[in-house]
Amino acid sequence: MQPFVYNSLPSRVIFGSGTISRLKSEIERARCSRALLLSTPEQADNLARIAEMLGPLCAGTFAGAAMHTPADVTERALQKVRECGADCTVSFGGGSSTGLGKAIALRTDLMQFAVPTTYAGSEVTPIIGETKDGVKVTQRTLKVLPEVVIYDVDFTLTLPPRLTVTSGTNAIAHAVEALYAEDRNPVISLMAEQAIGALGRALPAILAEPHNREARADALYGAWLCGVCLGSVGMALHHKLCHVIGGAFDLPHADTHTVILPYAMAYNAKAAPEADAAVARALGGADGTSALVNLASRLGSPQSLKSLGMPESGIDRAADLAVQNPYWNPRPIERGAVRALIAAAWAGDTPTPLD
Ligand code: NAD
Repeated sequence: MQPFVYNSLPSRVIFGSGTISRLKSEIERARCSRALLLSTPEQADNLARIAEMLGPLCAGTFAGAAMHTPADVTERALQKVRECGADCTVSFGGGSSTGLGKAIALRTDLMQFAVPTTYAGSEVTPIIGETKDGVKVTQRTLKVLPEVVIYDVDFTLTLPPRLTVTSGTNAIAHAVEALYAEDRNPVISLMAEQAIGALGRALPAILAEPHNREARADALYGAWLCGVCLGSVGMALHHKLCHVIGGAFDLPHADTHTVILPYAMAYNAKAAPEADAAVARALGGADGTSALVNLASRLGSPQSLKSLGMPESGIDRAADLAVQNPYWNPRPIERGAVRALIAAAWAGDTPTPLD
């Protein structure tokens, strides 16, 4: 028997199509009456429609959310909270909108409703990363976990194909690392395998038919479970690599995850055979690494760091950063092997499991 500790995260989740119509009654159920609606500038039109639907329950809108939760954006949103006397927030959109709702909750304890429209999964994690003066600081606290999440598959139908692929693969990465996490447990492992399978089936179907509601629902369901994985157990080498490489070379977040994932799996496969087998079962394939490579090639995913704009001269710096303050990992973090991983990912060489 393998002993374990399992922490469940408290949130109320409503899932389906057309579920945005439940937002009004959910706000009333929570005894709130003045919601501040949050989104990125690109989603301001949807926000206006939701404001209209809420009527007097909407106290104001703020469509200024941005990637990596910049401190100045949070300051402006807090000003809006004070001006309109908000008693809760509704974050509509991807991780950027959710991050802003979390930043407000961290400082005010306002109740959060999240309506996610990407596969980032932030809406079910107690994690917040905030950026000030170019430095991103991440912390874990239950204060930032949204109380109510409304998954409405209808809003995901417009997610562009490339973002669908990279956001979905970013989600899969959370589940893969949960399978070999130091604090893994059978419940999260069940969710992780289910989630990888759901996204592995859904993403190719969505690429073939972007408005396929069943496939979109499978992907959103998978993304929810992946978010729970990320929020519940520790992440390892893959997330460390994406964090340092993405940050050092200003690479797009979800694309970097998409390129690195098969290489991280190859690095850890032999040290985490149960995780490797679970990924292979979920996606279909001889082993986890080749299953992830096959999925990436079916999806036409970005396959090299070079194609994302990382300079070759940065490989050594990336290796140095990756071995500093390493996260726990099933296979020891060795600079030589990590450098070889980064060099292969830079060039887009086929990932092969290490002995
Ligand atoms: P995002 O929220 O920045 O959205 C990307 C773009 O897609 C935006 O322009 C947005 O307006 C648009 N968009 C979103 N949904 C759309 C839809 N359905 N149709 C059309 N356009 C749509 O991107 P993201 O990848 O969801 O989030 C990334 C951010 O989330 C990063 O800052 C990352 O660090 C953070 N994140 C945090 C956690 C956590 O647990 N704290 C987890 C994952 C990601």
